[in-house]
Amino acid sequence: MPAPAWDTIVVGTGGIGSAALYHLAARGARVLGLDQFDIGHDKGSSHGDTRAIRLVYFEHPDYVPLLRRAFELWETLNGEAKTPVFQRTGILQSGPPEGEVLTGLVRAARAHDLPMEQLSAQEVRKRFRGFSIPDHEQAIYDPGGGFLRVEDCVRLHCRLARAEGASLQTGECVRHWYVTGKDVTVETDRNRYVARRLVITPGPWAPRLLPVFAPHLSLLRKSLFWFDPGDDCYTLDAGCPVFLFERGNRTFYGFPAVDDKGLKVAEHSGGRPVASPAELDRHVDTRELEDATLMVRSYLPLAGHQLSHHTTCMYTMTPDGHFIVGHYPEIPQVCVVAGLSGHGFKVASVRGEIMADLALEDATRHPIGFLSPERFAAPA
Ligand SMILES: Cc1cc2nc3c(=O)[nH]c(=O)nc-3n(C[C@H](O)[C@H](O)[C@H](O)COP(=O)(O)OP(=O)(O)OC[C@H]3O[C@@H](n4cnc5c(N)ncnc54)[C@H](O)[C@@H]3O)c2cc1C
Repeated sequence: MPAPAWDTIVVGTGGIGSAALYHLAARGARVLGLDQFDIGHDKGSSHGDTRAIRLVYFEHPDYVPLLRRAFELWETLNGEAKTPVFQRTGILQSGPPEGEVLTGLVRAARAHDLPMEQLSAQEVRKRFRGFSIPDHEQAIYDPGGGFLRVEDCVRLHCRLARAEGASLQTGECVRHWYVTGKDVTVETDRNRYVARRLVITPGPWAPRLLPVFAPHLSLLRKSLFWFDPGDDCYTLDAGCPVFLFERGNRTFYGFPAVDDKGLKVAEHSGGRPVASPAELDRHVDTRELEDATLMVRSYLPLAGHQLSHHTTCMYTMTPDGHFIVGHYPEIPQVCVVAGLSGHGFKVASVRGEIMADLALEDATRHPIGFLSPERFAAPA
């Protein structure tokens, strides 16, 4: 049997796949990236200008070691970019003291001895002109947090991957993949390829490409709104932080105005179910817009209310809200990242490194046990 033409094929070169492609190529692997769309497209889960990155992690303290490495890799990547892809602005997070956000932040900070500042509502108003949280709430400022320019990260990883010798085919849709002896075969709408290893990072197309997880995954529609900042205090140049507000059972977040596009806000909680990416409704939902406007009025009182831009995106949710990272159950030739549940871009850089580890060495030093695919391998 002749050796396959490729060491590894990466299916999906969006947020995670572009990083995997780069790390595989940088280690000298013969690697092919396949994507149905152009690099940096707006049809999946990696568009809308910015993504929050934070080290003190309320969702689960076990993300912190992965985040430390992710930060290092993004900083290294900044050295290759004309405009920094990672911008450290600090992140201000608020909510009731007994809420999920503040209790989770304190837990993660204690577990990993991380710096953070606890602020009362009055201290928030004094320190961050333009921010107002209710008097009965508190805030935590994480000075290490910031944002990533999401499309630029994808494009930069792909550019660097190509410079390291990776091949990249866009506009090519993968129809099937299957194991052939020790190797894996990928059939697209144009070609058939064989590789030793396959990395599948399909974003919201995961239910189709990764059938074993399909019963456990659900897609949610998410709207992003950009408003006229109204006051200079909400601009990146003025030092406005990224922000996240827990309010009752809802969570809103946003970013300083970057590149004259406006102050971006969105709701992390909620979202309408989406049957498949092709059926995503991209219209402005007036109810969602009203909710976002109301949040701006209460928490960002100096901001304007004029909508300047809008887009929609998708979260791919797992039942526990944590990612799926590792080998496909019972198929060691195939590694996957899926179900990022609306908080996975910040670790894309280290995910790329992990995929390269698993594809080339079958193991990784990174602690990913808590994200094991095996937890969803059983029937739903
Ligand atoms: C509105 C919104 C806000 C978010 N905010 C944050 C945040 O602040 N911080 C954070 O860390 N994370 C955040 N996330 C989550 C994060 O952005 C996503 O989890 C991450 O970008 C998804 O990357 P991905 O590579 O899995 O998916 P994608 O970037 O969508 O990439 C998947 C790729 O696979 C390709 N593909 C799929 N099927 C095929 C096929 N059959 N053949 C060929 N190609 C295929 C697609 O074309 C696509 O390019 C947010 C997500 C959304 C939607």
